[in-house]
Parts: sequence; C-alpha cells; structure tokens
Amino acid sequence: MMTIKTKIILLVSLVVGLLFTGFGVFIYHQVHNANLDKIDARLVSLSQQMRDELDEQIEKKRFPDNADLKRLLSENLSKSCMRLYDSSGSIVYADSMFRSETNTLEPKTVGAKPIVQTVKLHGHHYRSLIRTVEIEDNPRWLLQIAAPLSEVEANLNQLRILLWTTIPIALLLSAFLVNLIVRRAFRPLSAMIETANRVSASTLHERLMLPKGRDEVVLLGIALNRMVERLEAAFKSQKQFIVDASHELRTPLTIVQSELEFANRSLLPDAAKQSISIALDELDHLRKLANDLLMLVKLEVAGQVVECSAVRVDELITDCVQKISRIASEKQVALHLEIAEAVEMVGDEDKLRSAFMNVLENALKYTQGGGSVSVRLTTQKGSVVIALQDNGIGISPTDLPHIFKPFYRSAASRAQNAGSGLGLSIAQRIVELHGGTITVQSDGASGSTFTIQLPMARTES
Ligand code: ADP
Repeated sequence: MMTIKTKIILLVSLVVGLLFTGFGVFIYHQVHNANLDKIDARLVSLSQQMRDELDEQIEKKRFPDNADLKRLLSENLSKSCMRLYDSSGSIVYADSMFRSETNTLEPKTVGAKPIVQTVKLHGHHYRSLIRTVEIEDNPRWLLQIAAPLSEVEANLNQLRILLWTTIPIALLLSAFLVNLIVRRAFRPLSAMIETANRVSASTLHERLMLPKGRDEVVLLGIALNRMVERLEAAFKSQKQFIVDASHELRTPLTIVQSELEFANRSLLPDAAKQSISIALDELDHLRKLANDLLMLVKLEVAGQVVECSAVRVDELITDCVQKISRIASEKQVALHLEIAEAVEMVGDEDKLRSAFMNVLENALKYTQGGGSVSVRLTTQKGSVVIALQDNGIGISPTDLPHIFKPFYRSAASRAQNAGSGLGLSIAQRIVELHGGTITVQSDGASGSTFTIQLPMARTES
C-alpha cells in the first residue's frame, strides 16, 4: 500500500521534474537562438564590409584581390570562408573550404534580403549568408560567406551536459526536502495513529497528544479527542446504569428471599413448599447474577487494582480448596492440593479469592462424582503459576475460544442450569488487573486445565 507521504513525494518530484525539464528546454533554445543571432549579425556586417571592399577593388581596378578578401575575412570572423558567383552562376572566387563544394547557387532565388541558413561543409555545420552584390554595373552577382558553428555547438553541448546533470540533482534535492517537510508535517499524525490504536474500551481515558498550532492535523486530533471524550462519557453512564440496576435489584431480592424462607418454614402443604423451594433456587441464581454483574462492571470500570496489600498466595489457595472440600466430598470428587513453596504477591486479596473460587467452583461443578480436581501451585521466572486440573466433562473446541466472554455458557452448562456465564469473565479481569494471564487447555472430553499466572514477590518464610 502506498502511503500519502510517498504519494506526495512522488507527485512533487513529478511536477518539479516536468518544470525543470521545461525550463531546461526553454533555456537551451534561448541560448541556441541568441548564439545564432550573434553570428548572423556578424555575417551581415561582414557581408557589408565585403561589398564595400569589392566596390573599392573594382574602382581601383584590382578586382578580384584574393589576398585582401582573405585578410578581411580572417580579421572579422575567424575560420570563415567565402565565395563569389558572377551573374551567370560561375564561381569567380572561392576559399579553400568552398572550393571542393559542388553546390552552386541559383542567382534568381536570392532576393533583396540576404538568405541566412545553417549548412553542412565537409561534415561540419556552418552558418551561411548569401546576398546579391553589384559588380561592374551588374547587380546579380552573389556573395556567400560562411562561419563555422563549432564554437556555438561546443557551448551548447556544455549547456546540455549542465542541464542533464543539474535536473536529476535538483530532482533528488527536491525529493529530499519534500520528504523532510512531509515527515515533519506528518509526525503528529503518526503519534495520533499510535495512540488511537492503543485506545480501547478499557483505555478510553487516553487522549491524543497534539502539537501546538491549529492546522488540519491538530483540528482532526481535537475532533478525535472530543469523540473519545463523548464515548468515554457514554461508556461510563452505561456502566453506571448497570451498577445502579444490579445494586437496586439486590435489596428486593434479599427481601423476597427472606420472605420465602419464612413462608417455607410455616405450615404449608408439601406442594406449596416444593414450589417455594424451586423459587428460592431461582432467586439464589438471580442474586448471584446481580452480584456477578455488579462485580464485573466495577472491574471493567477499574483501570487498576485499588486495594493493594501483600497476599500469601499459598495460604489463599489452601483456604479456597478448604472452602469447597465439603461440597467436593458430598459430590464424591477427590480434591488434591500441591503447593511447591510459600509465595507472596502484591494484590487485592478479596478479588484474587473471587478469581480462584470461580475457577475452582467450575472445576467441581463440571466434574462428575468419582472424578478428581487437583490444584498445583508452583513458581516460574518471577511468576506464581496455579494450575487447576479436573477430569470432568471438558470443553469442546467450539466453546473453547468463547468461555471467557461475559454470559457465554456451553450447551452442557445450560442443560445443568448452572451458573451465570460471568464467572470466568470476572476471573480473567481480576487476573489481568494484577498483570497476569489465565489460559485454558482441554481436549473436549477428558477434563480441562486452567492455568493462572501472576507476577509475585517471594517471602522469606
Ligand atoms: P458458568 O457460570 O456458566 O460456569 P463461567 O463463566 O464460569 O460461567 O464459565 C463459562 C463456561 O465455560 C461454562 O458455561 C462452561 O461451559 C465452561 N467451563 C468453565 N469451566 C469449566 C470446566 N472446568 N469444565 C468444563 N467446562 C467449563
């Protein structure tokens, strides 16, 4: 893909190239014509002198005096030559240069005005002037004087070389300068692209750095910053709405739950009690959903971990495993805990507990009786690695890329009616806020392994 920068440089180079070439051609022609005009003027003046000389020779009865004619020629125009035709067209006098030239001139074709043209003599270019002269009362004699163009051609050659070397140099120089200018003008744009690429839902507080001034680039930057500002405000109000809604839901849900529990304890027919139990289960599910939603939105809003303290990860994991051990034994799922060493890290203990519990509860939830869940804590290059492995139902390859998305639940999970689909999203967000990662491996049939990696600080225990 051709960038705007490259396009501008190419376009300017093309325009500059055309301008310079046009200018060069114009200069060349001007110099060429000026040189010819100069020679022509000298030829005209020499022909005048020559006519006067011929007049004088005729008057003094020494016509044609070849030596005098030669002297006059060489004194006025070096290396020039001449020839003289009588009215019948026969050559009366010719220089050595002209002598072997065969072409004869037709006196009738030459009018009152001299004919000046470029001719070739012995393979070289000459500027030639032909005019009529009056000799012994006959006005139709012809005088031809020719001057070599070798000097003019040498000068023009030099000019041509000069132009052909300066045009590419000027072209390169202009491309270099345009490149400098364009790069300077586009520098803020490159920085803006970089920031714009960085801005995502979680980094909407970032703004484009703008240079001083009010050119189009700065105005574009200002417009983009305003757009991100509006987006941020919309995002915040949307999240605040979810926070408020889930918060508002919690109180009535708690009241309904306690009322139902109270009713369930009273003397009601068994059928009514069964209905109340089902309603209580659903209510529990609804309360968990509201709590998870509230937590996830709060985590989304948080740019970083707020409550930071030293956390003993080994103790926290042991605690979590103990918490689920009763349900595990009820479900007849074996629990194994393996801790390689005591590990401390800086973080938010409650949030880390939620993250571990979510993954651990899932392992238990999706493992049938007779299965096992094992938790291993190890350290690796400045990180604490917690691997939670189960031999439960596993995660199919179609579900695997989606399980960390909010509200995503596999068909198996929906069939069990277990969970809200927010547990893993919450766990992932918490781990990421601590600068860690959470990954999953599953062959889709014989269990899954979740690996949480967190940056750590080691204790001296
Ligand atoms: P849920 O409340 O449905 O468990 P989660 O966000 O915790 O929601 O998990 C998302 C989905 O990932 C689950 O619906 C389930 O399909 C799958 N999943 C998570 N953990 C496991 C596991 N240990 N074994 C099999 N499937 C799992």
